[in-house]
Amino acid sequence: MADTIETTNTAQTIENTGNRNDAQAPPMRIARVLGLPVHALAMEQTLAWIARRIDERADANGSAATATPPAQPLHQIVTLNPEIVMAAQRDESLRAAITSADLCIADGVGVVWAARRRGQRLARVTGVDLLERTAQVAAARGWRLFLLGAAPGIAELAGEVLQRRYPGLQLAGAYSGGPQATARDDILTRLATMRPDILFVAFGSPAQERWIAGLREVLGAAGVSVAVGVGGAFDFIAGHVPRAPRWMRRVGLEWLYRLLREPWRWRRMLALPRFALAVILCRDS
Ligand code: UDP
Repeated sequence: MADTIETTNTAQTIENTGNRNDAQAPPMRIARVLGLPVHALAMEQTLAWIARRIDERADANGSAATATPPAQPLHQIVTLNPEIVMAAQRDESLRAAITSADLCIADGVGVVWAARRRGQRLARVTGVDLLERTAQVAAARGWRLFLLGAAPGIAELAGEVLQRRYPGLQLAGAYSGGPQATARDDILTRLATMRPDILFVAFGSPAQERWIAGLREVLGAAGVSVAVGVGGAFDFIAGHVPRAPRWMRRVGLEWLYRLLREPWRWRRMLALPRFALAVILCRDS
């Protein structure tokens, strides 16, 4: 595993989206945390990246000579936290879902910490903050969002909250669904009918990462440009689960707040000390 930061291309800011060509964009750094790629994009750069994916699809559809434009690829964003990094160490299919994603951003403070130990600076971009900011930009740019997942009624509630906050926001749909195979056809029919630009999936990790990765082609054919797994984001936005106070987020203690509010998480959170130990012991991650 390389200690170096690799580079690929991306643009810098959402305001920069007049430049649609990645080849002209400054290079995007990719850190490595326990063998997994983490792209060094801050919030505005992530939004610019999303904007380009949507613009590319619109351009391809606009220039298609036939009435049925060729199928466009789906782009998957993974929001990485220590729990999913640890799960991927022993689960090859999850690791494949992460490494085949188009963008992996640092959701957990532990991921930022692990990269910094190797001299690699990452910005923390949480799934819930990305959803919130995407909704704001979407209201201005006409992107259509679909909120999929969480308990029945929560996605709808989160959608209403976002539409109140960002007037003009177009929701292509909000539906609880579920990651199980029996729910798949129903969800895909809804998506193919509503053709959202961006799909936020809140099935929890690693179900949401696997679900998106396994359905890339069919989601792309349903018109979805970008799909992001966002864990408990709808619960936060709907007000169903309170988010940690700002000061706790700032000092990297959001995980502790979640543990205190939802003590049943303790078993899952055992991944945190195991992650820290693995990072400290790993010479070349
Ligand atoms: N969830 C779901 N279907 C499932 C399991 C979970 O929709 O089969 C939802 C759950 O209701 C919650 C979301 O997944 O809204 C994220 O759960 P969690 O907080 O455990 O995810 P994390 O943010 O820790 O990844």
